[in-house]
Amino acid sequence: MRLDKVTERVYANCDSETGGNVGIVLMDDAVVAVDAQYPVSAYRFRESIATVSPKPVTHLLLTHVHWDHVFGNQAFEDCTIVSQRRLKEKMEENLRGEWAPGNLEKMLEDIKANRPERAWLFEGLRIVLPTETFEERYTLPGLEFINLGGHSDCSSVVYVPEERVLFAGDNLFAKTFP
Ligand SMILES: [Zn+2]
Repeated sequence: MRLDKVTERVYANCDSETGGNVGIVLMDDAVVAVDAQYPVSAYRFRESIATVSPKPVTHLLLTHVHWDHVFGNQAFEDCTIVSQRRLKEKMEENLRGEWAPGNLEKMLEDIKANRPERAWLFEGLRIVLPTETFEERYTLPGLEFINLGGHSDCSSVVYVPEERVLFAGDNLFAKTFP
């Protein structure tokens, strides 16, 4: 997965080959990742991060609950995974419903049958929940993670004021690309 340089501290995947535009923010002594796509692309994302910065990835920030943002969480299990409270609640609800044992396998079979060209992205899927939640705002040095709603009630944006960069999640599309 290619990461393009957006500003000095921000890189993002903008080729839309495997889903939404995941990205990273370089901190003084760490890397913060934004969104995770799917299991297979998330591991590739993780490898790409290492080519951009040797600093450890400490946080994964999830902009909203949709598959192409949270199904890659397992590649960031060693990090603090942060989301708005409702995102985690929705994932927990899904674990009791469409992602429950049996149902998840059924869902993956349906994807293989109906969207075979995308099925490879879901290989090895294991649902991993956020480890930390917030209500309105979560702050790291030089970075703000703010719940604004919109696309989903748990939708939150990642703002890097110094660089004037906003990760808008799926609240903003250019043609069809978020
Ligand atoms: Zn979405």
